[in-house]
Amino acid sequence: MPVTVRFAPSPTGNIHIGNARTALFNWLFAMKNNGNFVQRFDDTDLARSRQEYADAILYDLHWLGIFQDATEYQSRRFDRYEDAVDRLKRDGLLYACYETPEELDLRRKVRRTRGLPPVYGREALQLTHAQISEYEADGRKPHWRFMLPNFRNDPMEPERTEVEWSDLVRGDETIDLASLSDPILIREDGTFLYTLPSVVDDIDMSITHVIRGDDHVTNTGVQIALFRALGAEPPAFGHHNLLTTATGEALSKRTGALSIASLRESGLEPMTIASLAVLTGTSENVVAASTMTELAKLFDIGAASKSAAKFDPEDLNALNRDMLRQMSFADARDRLSAFGILGDQAEPFWLAVRGNLDRLTDATTWWRIVRQGPLEPVNLSAEDADYVRAAFDALPPTPWNGDTFKIWVDGLKEKTGRKGKMLYEPLRLAITGLPSGPELADLLPLLGPAGMQARRP
Ligand code: GLU
Repeated sequence: MPVTVRFAPSPTGNIHIGNARTALFNWLFAMKNNGNFVQRFDDTDLARSRQEYADAILYDLHWLGIFQDATEYQSRRFDRYEDAVDRLKRDGLLYACYETPEELDLRRKVRRTRGLPPVYGREALQLTHAQISEYEADGRKPHWRFMLPNFRNDPMEPERTEVEWSDLVRGDETIDLASLSDPILIREDGTFLYTLPSVVDDIDMSITHVIRGDDHVTNTGVQIALFRALGAEPPAFGHHNLLTTATGEALSKRTGALSIASLRESGLEPMTIASLAVLTGTSENVVAASTMTELAKLFDIGAASKSAAKFDPEDLNALNRDMLRQMSFADARDRLSAFGILGDQAEPFWLAVRGNLDRLTDATTWWRIVRQGPLEPVNLSAEDADYVRAAFDALPPTPWNGDTFKIWVDGLKEKTGRKGKMLYEPLRLAITGLPSGPELADLLPLLGPAGMQARRP
């Protein structure tokens, strides 16, 4: 059976870098195993889900370099969930409950004071017909719970029942089903919680590996039981650690902080985000992988650690600089030409400036400086202006190449006795108008004698 994974966000907001981690873990796992990637939208909550968000999520994934083999919407599959409900009811595994949240809360408190675990005590199984009729007459609607297989003969006497799986990330995991409440699968208003539709989909879509955040570990115990109740073999599971900010704060879809859209708008490279999202909190160093193939080589699902994957958003900037520093002209060419950076000079220009960029768009500023001169008039002291004038008059003969600058300043050093900052900074200011930037040795051949003379103070 081919490896098939899925990424299953609810389309209720923009995805953030933490969601991207889950998507990328699935994508890279599929890539490494020649598998399929299913994009599934968990949109059973019709009130909060929106097509715009689903579209935005697809846009973000494609921008990151993730391309789905299939797209599924849970909202189009309610029939399948109803079939599963019928089956569970027929098998006596789904039962109606009428408690209000306040009643449940009170029961939990009572159990705690008695030293019992605060799980649901299955009281609904003992309701008489008369009681049920009374509730219904009162207008109460039932919610439905799945009966966990944690008892021998009598559901009122649960006993330790271990569900085990070998987690792709965390190793051997065990959940005791007696430590959990029977999960509610259907709310009073008839809507589905995520638990059942997810399992039905995973079965129908032949998902072989469920890779998701470790906030779902407990769900897995329940869902494995559901797979079996529906007559299916559970898939393999892998729960990766969640990305948090350096202060340990969880990321939220709602706040919009660190959303892929906002990171894209800030001018970051997609592979910068992908590299950080995947490699943080693993035994690999966080480095800038320039392609998905390269990132796949660094990706090992078992290398994620069990503790939170903390990162400082500032790291994205440093990583982006690394990404640009090593970006080939071939990879940058199309985007540069969209900025009007083209012609014979585009390649040497790119090679000269790429090590000095925070964002690729910064190249446009350098292109202006190279083509038109400093952005602002340059203010040099009278003494420095004299030095620069004399220096420009002593430029080596053409043709210029990468060695020209060294020959030039070696001569200036000898003639003027200047060295270090005194030697270089006035030249740099005259040439670029800025105190730092690309190697002057690379800029000189780009500017040529005409460009240099235009900058003579
Ligand atoms: N919609 C669920 C979530 O975003 C999916 C979890 C899963 O992958 O099963 O948390």
